[in-house]
Amino acid sequence: MGTIKVQTENIFPIIKKFLYSDNEIFLRELVSNAVDASQKLKALSSMGEFKGTLGSLRVEVIVDKAAGTITIKDNGIGMTSEEIEKYITQIAFSGAEEFVNKYKDKVDKNVVIGHFGLGFYSAFMVAKKVEIFSLSYKENAKAIRWECDGSPEYQMEDIATKTERGTDIVLHIADDCLEYLETTKIEGLLKKYCKFLPVEIKFGTRKEFIPTEEKDKDGKAVQKEIETDNIINNPTPAWTKKPAELTDEDYKSFYHELYPMQFEEPLFNIHLNVDYPFNLTGILYFPRLSNKLEMPKDRIQLYSNQVFVTDNVENIVPDFLTLLRGVIDSPDIPLNVSRSYLQADSNVKKISSHITKKVADKLEELFKKDRADFEKKWDDIKVFVQYGMMSDEKFFEKAKNFALFKNTEGKYFTFEEYENHVKGNQTDTDKRIIYLYTTNVSEQHAYIDAAKSRGYDVILMETMIDAHYINQLESKLKDTSFVRVDSDTVDKLIKKDEKQPSKLSEEQNKKLQPVIEGVVPKEQFMVVFESLSEKDAPMLITRPEFMRRMKDMNALGGGGMNFYGKLAEMYNLVVNSNHPLISRLLSETNADKSRL
Ligand code: ADP
Repeated sequence: MGTIKVQTENIFPIIKKFLYSDNEIFLRELVSNAVDASQKLKALSSMGEFKGTLGSLRVEVIVDKAAGTITIKDNGIGMTSEEIEKYITQIAFSGAEEFVNKYKDKVDKNVVIGHFGLGFYSAFMVAKKVEIFSLSYKENAKAIRWECDGSPEYQMEDIATKTERGTDIVLHIADDCLEYLETTKIEGLLKKYCKFLPVEIKFGTRKEFIPTEEKDKDGKAVQKEIETDNIINNPTPAWTKKPAELTDEDYKSFYHELYPMQFEEPLFNIHLNVDYPFNLTGILYFPRLSNKLEMPKDRIQLYSNQVFVTDNVENIVPDFLTLLRGVIDSPDIPLNVSRSYLQADSNVKKISSHITKKVADKLEELFKKDRADFEKKWDDIKVFVQYGMMSDEKFFEKAKNFALFKNTEGKYFTFEEYENHVKGNQTDTDKRIIYLYTTNVSEQHAYIDAAKSRGYDVILMETMIDAHYINQLESKLKDTSFVRVDSDTVDKLIKKDEKQPSKLSEEQNKKLQPVIEGVVPKEQFMVVFESLSEKDAPMLITRPEFMRRMKDMNALGGGGMNFYGKLAEMYNLVVNSNHPLISRLLSETNADKSRL
């Protein structure tokens, strides 16, 4: 009999209360301890300090619904009674107490309590009684049984019944946590937290069919059903291997292992492997993104030494990287802290900027190595690159060398190439280069054709994000303006000196103005006369770039621009004073008037 020295009389109700919503992590904590115990023994063995036979190191989780228990069993180093006294009743307990003291005044239901690892004591989140059976690897060690029901009292005794090296943690599940006695529940949790732990985790058995020597009448091997161990995890996931050991197929199959519900192939992957100034490994995948900026359900998963930490990486990796998939593993990612702490952690910040750099480098490498292939992927990765360029200055600086424009002919240009492509013909009288763009090829095709007839080039800017992207590019690219192809008549899209002579005089225009204004809704159309080519349309509707952009930004929820948002949709109705139809309209108007 012993007493755990704590001030708080009974901390377990408090532990339960705090962590109720997250109590499933007890399994992660206990299985991680069991894995650690196995790894430690392996290390001792390789250093020659343990001379016995290792056997196959393995952790087993056993649910016994009838007995109301879950057992986590390992054949690792085990603990002597002194070690249980020291590590379990003193150290671990003080950790639990520290936690309670720190958080007991901060019960705020709105704060999502993340992964506060309580280590061993998280067992009390779901158990009314915990037993430890342990036999240390040390020579002549005695097997020990320890028991605690959550009060500061515990019992410890020598036992003769445990003869195998290692530790069994037996949880007697509390009456309000009986869900954890369902095998499907436990298997689900093991798959979530333990899928890539470095030591085999066995959970019951499963049926498997294997071919036998016997042949059936078609000559095919007869299948035999066997019971085999149900191993939950892959102890050597792809990210722990060297890139040189992996083929494209390996990367793809690992992607499907991570996201079993994902049937599409990823576009490409980035293998991260850093050991200075911090440790980080991982594989990131570029999925085929739709143009809609929806939050993907299959997200990047964060691991710490192969233990799953979270897949909620928001604010931990830069926003635009959350569009990627894959895993990041770093022992420098603190496991047992709250989310807000994780976000402020300097290692986590370094990790995030490092990943940004790696991603940019990889994209540049792909671009340089195989431009044609990069162009093929561009439409799928474009949203991601643009998002990155808009949210991260450093990423922009790198991406400006491989970001592409696509024109209406389907040709791709880098920024530099495009500038050279249009500079000659599309520089206006103010020496600004005008980039013409379309947001919808089929709706704006008449304008696109008109621009092309002048030898102008038109690029595609069709997505929601493009509207913002254009603003950013204008602030970055020197002396460059973006003008939508239907924002003015083709003559005026790019201001040039030469002008078409007008067939109609100012006076004649004035005469026609009220006639045309009389037939269109005045609050929506401004009637303007222009001397276009005879071959151009007699009338056309344009929408000034400035007005439209303000409207667009407003629609996207850009605050502070309500004034423009509330304005009615305004268009220009451009009347081509050089078109024969307009001359005819004038003469008919004159005739009408003279008849009066
Ligand atoms: P942590 O794992 O963070 O050190 P825990 O409270 O989980 O904290 O465990 C405290 C200590 O108890 C461990 O550091 C380890 O020495 C010992 N321990 C826990 N579980 C086992 C186990 N299954 N086998 C051997 N030792 C263990």
